[in-house]
Amino acid sequence: MTAKALDVERIRNDFPILNRKIHGQPLAYLDNAASSQKPAAVIAAVSGYFLNSHANVHRGAHQLSVEATDAYESARAVVADFIGGRTKELIFTRGTTESINLVANSWGAAHLAEGDEVLLTLMEHHSNLVPWQLVAARAGARLKFVGLTPDGRLDLEDLAAKLGPRTRIVALTHVSNTLGVVNPVAEVARLAHEAGALCLVDGAQAAPHLLVDVVDIGCDFYAFSGHKMCGPTGIGALWGKKELLDAMPPWQGGGEMISEVQLEHSTWAAVPHKFEAGTPSVGDAVGLGAAVRYLSQVGLEAIHSHEIELTEYALERLTELEGFELFGPREDRVGVISFRFGDIHAHDLATILDARGIAIRAGHHCNQPLMRHLGVDATARASLYLYNTRAEIDALVEGLIAAKTLFGGFA
Ligand code: PMP
Repeated sequence: MTAKALDVERIRNDFPILNRKIHGQPLAYLDNAASSQKPAAVIAAVSGYFLNSHANVHRGAHQLSVEATDAYESARAVVADFIGGRTKELIFTRGTTESINLVANSWGAAHLAEGDEVLLTLMEHHSNLVPWQLVAARAGARLKFVGLTPDGRLDLEDLAAKLGPRTRIVALTHVSNTLGVVNPVAEVARLAHEAGALCLVDGAQAAPHLLVDVVDIGCDFYAFSGHKMCGPTGIGALWGKKELLDAMPPWQGGGEMISEVQLEHSTWAAVPHKFEAGTPSVGDAVGLGAAVRYLSQVGLEAIHSHEIELTEYALERLTELEGFELFGPREDRVGVISFRFGDIHAHDLATILDARGIAIRAGHHCNQPLMRHLGVDATARASLYLYNTRAEIDALVEGLIAAKTLFGGFA
């Protein structure tokens, strides 16, 4: 794959916050897996919407309501197109967490029965675990977990062994938010279907970084969050196959999602509106549409190549440091770099780096079962995006060396 090279300095100019100083130091923002920064185009789209076109959507005959509805629905079209889906299959949600809760509570509540199985993996974010715990407990269904290989990949043999006649759905992350590994989701979807199960993919860490095509993946549901892909917080999406979404009962009830309401019963609007009860977050959807346009204009292939090249550089430099230990595989990964550094606690590392203007994250990253599997309570995590540079990686390396000096070396 040859992608045009990114002009990172130009891209950095698109993100006003990157000019900030933190504790008097230039900001090196390496916490993109938690949330990305926003380009001026997204900020302008959101404020332009509120300055010029805001009204409630769908019900109004007046001009502003028509403009708001157009803005909202055209955002839906570009976001659906971004992941290779059809507009009618794209439900706006508050983010990945809400998307997965929607599937668990609508599809899960309707289809999971006593003794059925939900197959997850050891590397799932709590958002792709806890909703299934809740619905499985109500249905009397069981959760099963695919293990990992020693280098932190999905163990496909274990997956094949755990897929059985009672498996109703396989729900897994596309990219691990701790290990950085890219899972073979197309193969998993194929295996799930062969076993008569559905496949849900948590794309929170993939949609911002990889060229995603839900049709090529062949999954049934794909969930992602706007705020990790240059969009606003409070908006994300669930894509699902139309025939599945059509057959699923509503999750939340209220305005927007009905066709006709009687006192005792109601009928439902067509998908996607059936799953969008209440006034939607129109301004945020407009912002996500602008984010997707921005990312598409820069080019996902170029973004991905840049991140891969930067990850390679980061791993080369970091693994030269005595005491640096990477979690997750060296290959088949993206720029989510979780590590341990000698015996310095991840939280201490993050605090020391913050004093130098370097933002990384320390903690369990909403992956407590994975942390237990790795035998740690927390990792330090640097995560990269399109605007990060080699100079920022160098600053990270220097910061780690300084932390070691501050601690008087390792015990
Ligand atoms: N899944 C993964 C893999 C994630 O990294 C995250 C965010 N850390 C989520 C789900 C949840 O996303 P959100 O909080 O935006 O709903």
